Amino acid sequence: MSKVIVSPLYDSDVFRMACRQFDLAADAINLPEAIRDRTKWPKRCLAVSLPIRRDDGSISVFEGYRVQHSLSTGPSKGGIRFHPGVTIGEVAALAMWMSWKCSLVGLPYGGAKGGVIVDPAQLSTAEMERLSRRYIQELIPFIGPQVDVPAPDMGTNETIMGWMVDTYSSHVGHLEPAIVTGKPLALGGSQGRREATGAGVAYLLKRYLEDMGIPVAEATVAIQGFGNVGAETAAALDQYGARIVAISDHTAAFHHAAGINVRRALEYVRYNKVLRDFDGGTPITNEELLTLKCTAVVPAAIERVITPEIAARLQCRILAEAANGPTTNEADRVLDARGDIELIPDILCNSGGVIVSYFEWLQNLQHFYWSRDEVLTKLFALLDKAKESVAYQQRKFKFSRRLAALTLGIGRVAEAKQSRGLFP
Ligand code: NAD
Repeated sequence: MSKVIVSPLYDSDVFRMACRQFDLAADAINLPEAIRDRTKWPKRCLAVSLPIRRDDGSISVFEGYRVQHSLSTGPSKGGIRFHPGVTIGEVAALAMWMSWKCSLVGLPYGGAKGGVIVDPAQLSTAEMERLSRRYIQELIPFIGPQVDVPAPDMGTNETIMGWMVDTYSSHVGHLEPAIVTGKPLALGGSQGRREATGAGVAYLLKRYLEDMGIPVAEATVAIQGFGNVGAETAAALDQYGARIVAISDHTAAFHHAAGINVRRALEYVRYNKVLRDFDGGTPITNEELLTLKCTAVVPAAIERVITPEIAARLQCRILAEAANGPTTNEADRVLDARGDIELIPDILCNSGGVIVSYFEWLQNLQHFYWSRDEVLTKLFALLDKAKESVAYQQRKFKFSRRLAALTLGIGRVAEAKQSRGLFP
């Protein structure tokens, strides 16, 4: 029997939550004991200490991590998070979800994630550059275009990916664009990557609304988080004609029943960085935003915001999980019991980001670049295929949509591990 003694290394609320999801899915498909533990636990991790010189000449030391959850089906893939709340347990949970996500949408990748404990708002641009370069330099023995390919996540962006490409390329002696995705176009970035996650969220939301007989132009949507994913989701839904009735970030939340002017909000954040003092709506709390009466709620910020209490008070028809892990296990049970809210689970809902990252990596390896239309057409085709396979799994086994998505993702990783043997 496979009972292993597990160290508390990754122990945290969010890692326990990801493990609980895994256990439920493994039970549902009767995953053999012999394969469970090695499918579940991260393959390997690295913790790095990052000294950088501050603008005033002093030295600060930051801590960073990279967790590679699975390398069985190809290089591992996953973003890098810069946030004061980063823990190795959170990074491990996010790496685990990347494995199921890549597998669900059929990408030849395992899952990984990285993180640095830092508040980006406290660093100047020059300090941020030194920290980003130092982090990727420490990771050089651990990553590579055929080993592990990072990307942006919360607190990181295209500019940071550009510094990382340069640092890695200087080390190997030639430009190596395939080392990270989500980089500037001038360094081999892909058309459509910046908006890919949000465009994918909006596309899937539109498709599920169509299934429910609701035209997207008649939908009202509340979005938590107005960073890369939240803002691009808002922009894409606005283009489809949906009414964005509320937006928020970590500084403020706003409601406007007639519709937030999304273009103005985007401009505002471009200049002010955050939504604080935006005058395009009535101030509300993030909790009020999540429980607004509207067609769809889109959590696009952090984990574990849909608690059982919030789940019981949701008044939407669809919960589209643009963030990773926004719904706790207990809240999932509340949603299952309610049965009146369509859930688009995170590993499907936000998979547009990694899908276009995959396209970017392919273009880098081939030195052959695609148009934005080509990228988005291929993205939507893969999302439709994944949506269809989740629906089939739901019908076949009478699973919830989350369980259907997780069992597909986990089952395929387990199958690859079984086919390869014990080594990977
Ligand atoms: P980001 O840093 O660009 O934006 C995060 C946003 O969330 C900011 O507006 C921030 O103010 C807000 N926020 C943070 N804490 C909050 C709180 N407590 N309440 C309300 N708002 C809060 O990050 P991002 O890249 O947009 O990532 C958002 C989520 O989407 C994360 O869960 C991330 O893992 C997930 N995701 C990102 C990508 C991607 O391509 N960037 C892909 C897939 C999933």
